[in-house]
Amino acid sequence: MSGVEGKVVAITGASSGIGAATATHLAERGARLVLGARREDRLHAVVDQITAGGGSAVGTVIDVTRREDLKRLTDVAVDRFGRLDVLVSNAGTMAVSPFDELRQDDWDAMVATHITGLLNGIGAALPVFRRQRSGQFVNIASTAAYVVKSPQAVYAATKTAVKVLTEGLRQESGPHLRVTLVSPGFTNTEGVGKGASPEAAAAAARQRDEIAIPPSAIASAIGYAIEQPVGVDISEVVVRPTVQA
Ligand code: NDP
Repeated sequence: MSGVEGKVVAITGASSGIGAATATHLAERGARLVLGARREDRLHAVVDQITAGGGSAVGTVIDVTRREDLKRLTDVAVDRFGRLDVLVSNAGTMAVSPFDELRQDDWDAMVATHITGLLNGIGAALPVFRRQRSGQFVNIASTAAYVVKSPQAVYAATKTAVKVLTEGLRQESGPHLRVTLVSPGFTNTEGVGKGASPEAAAAAARQRDEIAIPPSAIASAIGYAIEQPVGVDISEVVVRPTVQA
């Protein structure tokens, strides 16, 4: 029996990319999944693919910027499966642009999705984990949390916040909770360059075509952190293409 089998795992941003790949990876190893994202059709396509393959998954439409939606995600886990073992906070947006373009809505969206969204997940899952006296947070940051490259400053700042919040949470977690930060480098997903300024989108598309690793590589790292025995905490993992600077 693998360390993933039977675990109840909620994943935000599960309708595509790394979230969807993680759902598939964990379902193949016997996890029971509660998947959340905004695009209902894409979310249910992931759920249907998993259930058609004999896996266990339910989907619920959520916007991570809304506190009540994260509460609903964790409630679904407890109502349907009786518990929640892991929350993967993965939802994100990479709409990067130079400051001079003044894309303030995009700045707000990155702050709301990565910082408020993460805090909403902590607010919803922490009481469940404390009650159970077990649980694991897996938070998705980025290599941008380690090095700032123009024009990614806002994105990098919010991902640095994810890193800082994760470390603070780890320090307060006590003996029953595990807290993991996973930071991907260039990964081949539809989110790369989406909503970015034309120049940044073109650069991102080039990187994606030339060096990106598949989302399954990030899913494997997340699975590795989850499958560890109780008492072993994989605190921080960076997964990047070998050739990424
Ligand atoms: P995708 O665009 O494929 O995935 C992003 C996911 O987040 C989608 O499922 C999207 O679904 C969801 N999402 C976005 N905003 C919200 C919201 N407000 N509420 C709920 N769900 C939301 O890109 P990736 O898979 O690449 O991105 C996943 C994570 O990995 C992000 O946090 C990203 O920053 C991070 N990352 C990605 C890298 C890469 O190179 N691909 C590199 C470093 C980090 P929907 O639109 O249906 O809501």
